[in-house]
Amino acid sequence: MMDLFPAKLGALMREVIACERCPRLRDHCRNVAQIKRRAYLEWEYWAKPVPSFGDPKARVLIIGLAPGAHGANRTGRIFTGDSSGDFLYRALYETGFASQPVSRSRNDGLKLKGAYITASARCAPPDNKPAPGELANCRPYLERELDLLKDISVVVALGRVAFDGYLKILHDRGQIASRGSFPFAHGAEHHIGQGRPVLIASYHPSQQNTSTGKLTAEMLRRIFERARKLSA
Ligand code: SF4
Repeated sequence: MMDLFPAKLGALMREVIACERCPRLRDHCRNVAQIKRRAYLEWEYWAKPVPSFGDPKARVLIIGLAPGAHGANRTGRIFTGDSSGDFLYRALYETGFASQPVSRSRNDGLKLKGAYITASARCAPPDNKPAPGELANCRPYLERELDLLKDISVVVALGRVAFDGYLKILHDRGQIASRGSFPFAHGAEHHIGQGRPVLIASYHPSQQNTSTGKLTAEMLRRIFERARKLSA
């Protein structure tokens, strides 16, 4: 999967995969891989930090939260193998960013065109909640990606953690004066400034949001329709 990336991005992803900066998360990923879920007993879990996935020439950057314990931590590809991924990839397929609507394993042939998916934390956290220090540990990988992905014109932040994390980077880089001027709401669109990517906020396609109807398939599809239009 990494051979599809240009050299610098590929090297960064190899660094991610070998990362051990967060002992609590690394332990959790390995423990989950030992215990497994009954439906996946045949699987050899990935259990390492999960690299980003997508088109290095993407104009749309999607930032998620963290791998699912039995999803990406099992399959080794971001948003692959759980219900959040089903929701996301269907929306990407329907808006022309993904080659197929389902994502089962990292060898299932799925390709992204025009979109690149990364995460706020790259190891599965207990209860899907990375600690602030763990998000801070992982942030430099996202910053380096932002520097390497030269064609990004739209950033879609899936959930408040991704949204706040991205704004914090912009603030710390002196690209925005205050984070408070950019409220989070599903579908909120922030035009950061000349030459900077437009930021779109979306609810995260977590099972909690999709099973309660807080985020519907139609709502997520509209986000990517808008991202496509803005990035054209
Ligand atoms: S969450 Fe990020 S910084 Fe922490 S161990 Fe995983 S890859 Fe490394």
